[in-house]
Amino acid sequence: MASKSQHNAPKTKSPNGKAESQGQWGRAWEVDWFSLASVIFLLLFAPFIVYYFIMACDQYSCSLTTPVVDIATGRANLADIWAKTPPVTAKAVQLYTLWVSFQVLLYSWLPDFCHRFLPGYVGGVQEGAITPAGIVNKYEVNGLQAWLITHFLWFLNAYFLSWFSPTIIFDNWIPLLWCANILGYAVSTFAMIKGYLFPTSVEDRKFTGNFFYNYMMGIEFNPRIGKWFDFKLFFNGRPGIVAWTLINLSFAAKQQELYGHVTNSMILVNVLQAIYVLDFFWNETWYLKTIDICHDHFGWYLGWGDCVWLPYLYTLQGLYLVYHPVHLSTPNAVGILLLGLVGYYIFRITNHQKDLFRRTDGRCLIWGKKPKAIECSYTSADGQKHHSKLLVSGFWGVARHFNYTGDLMGSLAYCLACGGGHLLPYFYIIYMTILLTHRCLRDEHRCANKYGRDWERYTAAVPYRLLPGIF
Ligand code: NDP
Repeated sequence: MASKSQHNAPKTKSPNGKAESQGQWGRAWEVDWFSLASVIFLLLFAPFIVYYFIMACDQYSCSLTTPVVDIATGRANLADIWAKTPPVTAKAVQLYTLWVSFQVLLYSWLPDFCHRFLPGYVGGVQEGAITPAGIVNKYEVNGLQAWLITHFLWFLNAYFLSWFSPTIIFDNWIPLLWCANILGYAVSTFAMIKGYLFPTSVEDRKFTGNFFYNYMMGIEFNPRIGKWFDFKLFFNGRPGIVAWTLINLSFAAKQQELYGHVTNSMILVNVLQAIYVLDFFWNETWYLKTIDICHDHFGWYLGWGDCVWLPYLYTLQGLYLVYHPVHLSTPNAVGILLLGLVGYYIFRITNHQKDLFRRTDGRCLIWGKKPKAIECSYTSADGQKHHSKLLVSGFWGVARHFNYTGDLMGSLAYCLACGGGHLLPYFYIIYMTILLTHRCLRDEHRCANKYGRDWERYTAAVPYRLLPGIF
């Protein structure tokens, strides 16, 4: 099976037109019309979508329909809306530059010390998964440390130093949006040029011959500057995910300033999303084995997405609650908290089960029993045959992506905390459902190519993707 898969390995074109053999990883090597149309749609409209949501909160109290109705009925026009939009300011540029530079500094210059004193935490120098070209990259995992230091300084300022107001992020939210866009486009464009002119690993590139697709989905698999500055690890985790909890704290501070108190809904959103963010950093080493790092190339999708889409759209609930301070009844608050915690539990345990299983090569217990697995094999681009196993015990026996199901339950909880007044805070669950369903299909397509018949045996053993009996 493995040699057959090598024989059938897809060909990709290098910039000089020569065909290169690629392994069965990563993004597509041929662009179909639907993918190309989606890419062009996103390149054109994703920045506009982000602007629309943020503008709707700023000018229309988070109503998504009023701007459209106003324009349709002539009560407003695009020029009016644009004229009312705060422009980029020198203060925002300074803040953003300081913020990103500080995160670069924490990432590049401060080796991890958390793993020395936090029991169970795995940080410091860690290895990623094997790349299509057969390379195993090393990473300095120090995200938890960066998160702790950043938040320590935030609270130090808020309670003792008072160098700046904790509402600073909210107060500069739109000017900062322009800065985030500049960085997002700059890094994606740089990554594209780098992919052609000075790639980190020549063998780990993919070219489709379509400029837009290459720009969006990336050329290089693991672009780096120097030995350690890894674009994917840096941009995925910081500045976006470290910022996530700070942004929420700033929104809570704004509620306090405006209304004299922080609502239970705002506390719920802050707490549930902080658990998710902390989980991400606590498990950053595990994250090296996820699709983002193991399979996606670095292009606009990750570069711009991490700088703009994530910090601006994943935080819509907190932003909404500044404009609409929702007070939840105790039963509702408890119900939402439980939904969020159960979702988190499923998400975490499912991810943990796979990680434990793969790390110990199946020599572990899942739900108190020796795990059942399907043996599989595949071949990398260098022609080497590898062996792997697919777990069919624990949550991996319930559905093929039950970790996504838990993630979706948690996402729904954040949205429900905002009550039923507007659609805007529900964008997150709609988006996550589309993202994770698409991701699930994309991953399964890749796994089917990678493992062939062995993957068919797995899908026969675990027939559902997300919801047993339904999908
Ligand atoms: P997974 O962690 O589910 O990884 C999928 C990979 O795991 C597959 O490609 C395959 O890789 C391997 N695999 C699949 N089935 C099995 C099995 N039965 N046993 C062992 N290994 C298996 O996916 P992601 O990387 O997408 O997600 C990681 C987490 O991140 C998820 O919990 C997801 O919810 C979350 N996430 C959150 C996002 C957000 O924006 N909030 C975005 C994306 C993800 P291999 O080739 O090694 O066999």
